[in-house]
Amino acid sequence: MAKVPYISSEAMEDIALNILTAYEFDFEDVVFPKPTPIDEIIEFHYDLDVAWEPIDHFDPEGSVMAAIIPSQKRIIMNESQKDLFEEKIGTMNFTMAHELGHWVLHVDDKDNLQTALSLKEKQEVFYCRSHSMRSPIEQQADMFAGAILMPKPVVEKFIGRFKAARTIEMGQLYMLANCFQVSISALCVRLDRLGLLYVHKGKVYNSRSEYEGQIAFDF
Ligand SMILES: [Zn+2]
Repeated sequence: MAKVPYISSEAMEDIALNILTAYEFDFEDVVFPKPTPIDEIIEFHYDLDVAWEPIDHFDPEGSVMAAIIPSQKRIIMNESQKDLFEEKIGTMNFTMAHELGHWVLHVDDKDNLQTALSLKEKQEVFYCRSHSMRSPIEQQADMFAGAILMPKPVVEKFIGRFKAARTIEMGQLYMLANCFQVSISALCVRLDRLGLLYVHKGKVYNSRSEYEGQIAFDF
């Protein structure tokens, strides 16, 4: 794939919600947000194999968290990071969702995988790192992960309720992150991207521009 096609935020939300709907995951009618069953969606809805194997691939740009081999319909979670993944379920879910994002968004010819090979520069194996210079396809996979793990209508509903009650504290955001089984940082990125809230150094602002104006969330 020579160039990465642009995907708008709206299109990304639609892609994620369509997958959840197709999987018949009832995310809307709930008292508390539910975690997206990302491992089930990967294995049963997309028929991708998730394997745990040590990945020794050296990468100066950061530790490798996972990889995808499109021609084998295989996601490999780095077993060497298993302690981290077990400690932080949110990191594990986000990593899996990110890999599914590559499959959904970046593997061109899913019916003809021999010729479709893969993502960047026809690599057979595509490695994903924890932190690195985020290339467009990495950013898109991250956006996809945020959108499928934290469905927009659910996030809007609960943040709306918090706002209506006139109290938004970090504790509520931790509770929300816990319900979705994502990390607090993944939730904060999502809230900023949706323009719902902006969190900086443990303080909650109505928006990034409000933060830039240094007005704390306070009624
Ligand atoms: Zn990636």
